[in-house]
Amino acid sequence: MNVLISGAGVAGTTLAELLTRAGHRVTIAERAPALRHTGYAVDFRGAALDVLSELGILDEIRNHDTKMTGTTIVDRDGVQIEQLPAEAFAGELEVPKRVLNELLYALTADHVEYRFDTSITSLAQTEDAVTAQLTDGSTETYDLVFGADGVYSKVRQLAFTPHSSALHHLGLSGAGFTMPNFLDLDHHGLLRTSNGTAVYLFNSAAPDRLTVSLSFGTPSGELDRLPRAAQEAATRAAFSGDTWHTPRLLEAMSGASDFYFSSSAQVHLDRWSTGRIALLGDAGYCAAPAAGMGTSQALLGARSLARHLSTAEHPDAFAKYEAELRPYVTENQSNGRAAAAMFGGVREE
Ligand SMILES: Cc1cc2nc3c(=O)[nH]c(=O)nc-3n(C[C@H](O)[C@H](O)[C@H](O)COP(=O)(O)OP(=O)(O)OC[C@H]3O[C@@H](n4cnc5c(N)ncnc54)[C@H](O)[C@@H]3O)c2cc1C
Repeated sequence: MNVLISGAGVAGTTLAELLTRAGHRVTIAERAPALRHTGYAVDFRGAALDVLSELGILDEIRNHDTKMTGTTIVDRDGVQIEQLPAEAFAGELEVPKRVLNELLYALTADHVEYRFDTSITSLAQTEDAVTAQLTDGSTETYDLVFGADGVYSKVRQLAFTPHSSALHHLGLSGAGFTMPNFLDLDHHGLLRTSNGTAVYLFNSAAPDRLTVSLSFGTPSGELDRLPRAAQEAATRAAFSGDTWHTPRLLEAMSGASDFYFSSSAQVHLDRWSTGRIALLGDAGYCAAPAAGMGTSQALLGARSLARHLSTAEHPDAFAKYEAELRPYVTENQSNGRAAAAMFGGVREE
């Protein structure tokens, strides 16, 4: 079959690899101009490790384990309340996101056609095929099209439903950045929650850097669309008057070259496929970052799709994929809502 995948993240590249192994021809349209080398750590749990093994990259992934030792929960004054084991935030295995992206790209680059700087602009399907128009000016016909293009999936918007009905904001937004490791944390995290805010600090990959996450309750995801200055101002307002290390963190935020801001949302859909088009990973069923399950879901979703397509035609294969994965996703999304509430989210559904 001739297949188009939108998005070169974990879900898209894993599916591309497994489909090409089964003899299909795969093109990936990726909006970014090149492979991304950024992102925090991603962790793997349970059966997701089997997918890494099947892909042949588990040993290499283990070589890059961040080797986190755990997270200390502290009170407002920084006094230790509890110690959480490494698995709580780092799963069974954790690596910098860049490492996973690079390994998956290296695995696929010589047999998958990558079109960077390219997105789908329209999709039209008949019973026999899907015609896609792309931003590079081409129009091509495929047997199947997959949306693996993240929380704000273009494929979902074109073929399923507008963002407004798929996205469920979890009442939590947050700024992230890195700064010098002034606390000398050594592969360890500190989590301090107070008055609907959470400060999460950890040292993982580079010994001299501290990753900072400042999260707080917000009624909507509106801040995501505003410029950095407004996002910083909202973060400062949420933490105004706070003590401990917070003033120092806020000061470092202004100068951070890797400032990042995002609101937590889940993706809820009644179905993950329509005709010859299917969604996977965050595009179809994002459980929110705080759930720590996004990467595992992306890997397992890709494997499930590839496996069922190897034994059935697309309508049956898509139905089996959804039946297999939905209970797992439902549980992860429930955990994701609870985790968002713990990090300062204002609404627990
Ligand atoms: C701050 C933060 C922390 C996180 N921490 C963890 C963690 O600790 N553990 C964990 O497991 N998960 C974590 N996650 C979630 C994890 O990163 C995602 O769940 C996972 O990467 C999902 O993979 P994906 O391939 O479905 O989507 P993505 O990784 O989002 O990939 C989507 C790809 O599609 C591309 N794209 C987007 N739009 C288009 C378009 N219109 N056309 C073409 N391409 C497009 C994007 O550029 C991207 O390359 C975190 C996420 C965030 C934001």
